[in-house]
Amino acid sequence: MSNWARRVVALLAVGLVLIGLAGANIAQPVVSLPIPGVPVAAVRPAGAAVPSPRLMPANTVYEYTGTAGIALTFDDGPSPIWTPKVLQVLAKYHVHAVFCMVGFRVREHPELVRAVAQAGHTLCNHTVNHDPSISRWSPRDIHRDLAENNQLITAASGGVRPRYFRSPQGLFTPRVVEEARRLGLASLGWRVTAFDWQSPPLPPKALARNVDIRVRPGSIVLMHDAGSPGTHRHTLAALSIIIAYIQEHGWQTTAL
Ligand SMILES: [Zn+2]
Repeated sequence: MSNWARRVVALLAVGLVLIGLAGANIAQPVVSLPIPGVPVAAVRPAGAAVPSPRLMPANTVYEYTGTAGIALTFDDGPSPIWTPKVLQVLAKYHVHAVFCMVGFRVREHPELVRAVAQAGHTLCNHTVNHDPSISRWSPRDIHRDLAENNQLITAASGGVRPRYFRSPQGLFTPRVVEEARRLGLASLGWRVTAFDWQSPPLPPKALARNVDIRVRPGSIVLMHDAGSPGTHRHTLAALSIIIAYIQEHGWQTTAL
């Protein structure tokens, strides 16, 4: 074989290895990794179901869904004012999402927890009292809090056990992640946020822009359906813009 032919063969071999690696990357079952540059063509068309990736309880804080599906997550509810309105918008666009609920509001409004579960959304444990110091508590106290909120959510929803945990203010420590794992909860971080917790609130277009400039297939997106008074009117208006943006790109959503 001539030098020239050898070079061509070597280049082809390198090309095949690269194509193989790229393929392996997309099919990769490891869900904690980003999926950079997932081509739009690889994303299922709007209306097709994205298989649930089921992030597994592990010593990992997940920032990506592990599939092309985008996960919209709503924290700090349920709120009698905003949660039903968020549910209406999600239903209008046929989107399923994740709700990270705090126990003290679950106690006050169990009917909303049931409504969220019955609409096909995913439940997530956001601690009983939203105390950000929980990440520094003793393992025993963390366990007690998360187990109590699991029970509250399961009882209120009519038997749906949360599969996810989100630490207040996203303060995940190895200790709190480990206690969540022991209770069968995968720790759910995020990669994109609307910054809809700020007071005074940003206008809806600014909230939507915060998400739209960063969101892409596989993103976990943080929003809120309760919290600072008055701010979630803007979240609600932003939500329609964000979902329209996602669907215009032919991207899919997932409830994990
Ligand atoms: Zn929160």
